[in-house]
Amino acid sequence: MAHLLQATGLEAHYGASQALFGVDLNIATGEVVALMGRNGMGKTTTIRTICRMTPLSAGSVFLEGADLGAMRSHHAARAGLGLVPEGRRCFPNLSVQENLTAAARTTRWSQAWTLDTVTDLFPRLAERATQKASSLSGGEQQMLAIGRALMTNPRLLILDEATEGLAPTVRSEIWAAIRSLKSSGLSILIVDKSLKDLMSLADQCAILERGRTVWAGVPAELTDDVTSRLLGV
Ligand code: ATP
Repeated sequence: MAHLLQATGLEAHYGASQALFGVDLNIATGEVVALMGRNGMGKTTTIRTICRMTPLSAGSVFLEGADLGAMRSHHAARAGLGLVPEGRRCFPNLSVQENLTAAARTTRWSQAWTLDTVTDLFPRLAERATQKASSLSGGEQQMLAIGRALMTNPRLLILDEATEGLAPTVRSEIWAAIRSLKSSGLSILIVDKSLKDLMSLADQCAILERGRTVWAGVPAELTDDVTSRLLGV
């Protein structure tokens, strides 16, 4: 399978402090890859580096052959990265519909995602169309954040903490939506605390420790030793 995303030897710093020391991450087209590791091991920094929101100190990152390392974040988004950031970050004073239409873009590779298809995936967003994003529940804001990323018709959807802070019933709704995105063939990079949900969804896993990829493979190969040593489970 051709690699959609190929990140090799990523290094990144926050000022003088180094956060990534060599992250390798490959995602094939149509694959779901779970990026795992205990708190502070570099998952968010890896995502921010791929999305060009944190400078790349060393290493390379290509999306469908395009060199993201040379791009600013808005160009990386245009190249096909759809980010659902930790904390959701919707425009609080815009309505649900305005949040979605502000993100809308059709691309050479996909016109699948429109207001209609996003609200088919999340009917709750249609019910709340005219409400301000700030008035939504946490779960609805996460649906909106995913909807906004889909409206850009990305090649790769990136979810940082997909279900963090959400009630169990809403979590199930979000996981069901992500499963349906996977079935549609969308490529996905996902971070979440629920090992069980990640294992049932992911085709591949990559585990970070202190800013390095220290394990990569299919979920079935994840032994108890690896999960206890590297994930603290
Ligand atoms: P978590 O699950 O807690 O979000 P993470 O695996 O996503 O953890 P990162 O947030 O990428 O990890 O953090 C990696 C390292 O970089 C940590 O040592 C963290 O303290 C440091 N770090 C993260 N953000 C900043 C920042 N804005 N300034 C300085 N250091 C940071």
